[in-house]
Amino acid sequence: MTEPVTIGDSDVLVVVDVQNDFCPGGALAVPRGDEVVPLVNRLAAAFRNVVLTQDWHPRGHLSFASSHSGKKPYETIAMPYGPQVLWPDHCVQGTPGAVFHESLQIPHAGLVLRKGMNRAIDSYSAFYENDHMTPTGLVGYLRERGCSRVFLAGLALDFCVRYSAEDAHREEFAVYVVDDACRGIDVDGSVAATRASLAALGVPCIAAQNIARA
Ligand SMILES: [Zn+2]
Repeated sequence: MTEPVTIGDSDVLVVVDVQNDFCPGGALAVPRGDEVVPLVNRLAAAFRNVVLTQDWHPRGHLSFASSHSGKKPYETIAMPYGPQVLWPDHCVQGTPGAVFHESLQIPHAGLVLRKGMNRAIDSYSAFYENDHMTPTGLVGYLRERGCSRVFLAGLALDFCVRYSAEDAHREEFAVYVVDDACRGIDVDGSVAATRASLAALGVPCIAAQNIARA
């Protein structure tokens, strides 16, 4: 889509997991993840409603390879709720890696939504944990605030942004992924799978420059 999208007060920008551990030098670095920060800052300034998500795991979280003997990061295991990629320990509650990137400057963000706090269930999506059933509360928050369109940016495109986009679509929000304000990890073709899934759902991937305030 190349047509400009005009935003207003019923639109929300959800900034996904722009945290130190997902940036170069972090425990689970998304390649060039830090490059999104200036663009996300500029984009956020155009939105009245901004939500920041923060991956926020207890020590020993079951998405960590270190919690499973003999398993290495990026292997996939079967969890009760389905397949789960195992990750290096990351975004542990209260650690420097879990802090937002120091250049992320969105002081008017109305909500910081923490996720992944249940030791036994990972939570990629801003809306539901990975069982696709346990809500984070964000659907209710956005509905009560009259938000109808959800714009997504952040890290990583092929996991937390993807799952958030799919859940927002399932909850009947209009969804846009701001493509150049995201970066992917790309585990086993996950970026291509993400693009295919979003296209199948009719979720547009747009460029930040095509978003303008009314
Ligand atoms: Zn995580």
